[in-house]
Amino acid sequence: MFNIILFGPPGAGKGTQSRNIERDFGFVHLSTGQILRSLVERNTAIGQLIRKFIDRGYLVPDDIVLRELFREALKHQDRPGLIFDGFPRTVFQADMLDQLLEKKGIPIRMVISLEVEQDELFQRIMNRSVDSGRSDDREEVIRQRFATYREETHPLKEYYDLSGRLVEVSGMAPVGVVYQTIQQRIKMGLNGYSREEQR
Ligand code: AMP
Repeated sequence: MFNIILFGPPGAGKGTQSRNIERDFGFVHLSTGQILRSLVERNTAIGQLIRKFIDRGYLVPDDIVLRELFREALKHQDRPGLIFDGFPRTVFQADMLDQLLEKKGIPIRMVISLEVEQDELFQRIMNRSVDSGRSDDREEVIRQRFATYREETHPLKEYYDLSGRLVEVSGMAPVGVVYQTIQQRIKMGLNGYSREEQR
């Protein structure tokens, strides 16, 4: 399996590019944001708790996120790859993910970091907020989501860089142009991986 992470701040294009990769490579797109929002919609006690964090722009507690994501991820071990979008968001989550996937022999091979300037990110989310229907696409919550990203998630870049898995891609260009670069990088990674498998 060729498992990848799409990494980057809110508005970097992780969801859009994950869907492109899913379509062309047959990988499974796993978005923790979507998984958590679907739990909120069910309006159970756990859903109501999750909502409190999402609507303030804070991270949902690790135990909930890890349980829900791992359950989903392990359903798809027969597929050519998994795309993690919005996960991990802390070094602790990254560590737990590495441990689980290494134990199963299906590690993360590549972490694609989408690089987008702050002003552009803010503008994209404000534009999206018009029809996203997301309760956290409000200006004060968006600002908190960026702060949460800076404090808790951004340090993860170094974690992946140190393990040699980080690939930086500029996310400033139009979606199709950014995707071409992503596609090339995945193809290169897949070639290296299949050579490794043949040895
Ligand atoms: P997203 O759709 O990725 O922008 O995520 C929306 C919200 O869901 C975030 O602001 C967090 O409140 C929550 N969330 C998503 N992924 C995670 C995660 N890996 N850990 C904790 N909270 C998360």
